[in-house]
Amino acid sequence: MAKEKKVFEMLQQYTKKSLVDFGWIRDSDLGIYFVNTDHCPTIFLGELLKNDPKQASKVLSHELGHYYLHRGKLDVKKYKHGSDQRDENYVKLIEAEADAFGAGLMTAIRLEWCYLQ
Ligand SMILES: [Zn+2]
Repeated sequence: MAKEKKVFEMLQQYTKKSLVDFGWIRDSDLGIYFVNTDHCPTIFLGELLKNDPKQASKVLSHELGHYYLHRGKLDVKKYKHGSDQRDENYVKLIEAEADAFGAGLMTAIRLEWCYLQ
C-alpha cells in the first residue's frame, strides 16, 4: 500500500512538472483531461479514487497520456459524446493509446521507485 501511495505521489509530481493543473471532483471515480478557459491543460480525478492509490495512478497516467499524445491533435467531432459524427473506432483507438502511454509511464515510475529503495 505504501508503495502504491508513493507511486501516485510521484505521478502527481510528474503532473506538476508537466505544467498540468490538477484537481479533484466530488462523487466520481473517473478522470478527465481538458484545457480550461485560461488555455491551461488540466486533469481532474474523482475523489473516490483517493482510497485506491493503485487505481488513481492508473487513471492519472491515462489522462497524462491524453495530454502528451493528443493535446491539440484530437478530432473533437469524432470523439465528443453526443456528436453526430462520433466514431466509436476512433474513440477506442484514442483510449487505447492513452492506456498504453499510462502503462508505460507507471512501469517507468515503479522502476524509479525501486531504485530509490
Ligand atoms: Zn481516456
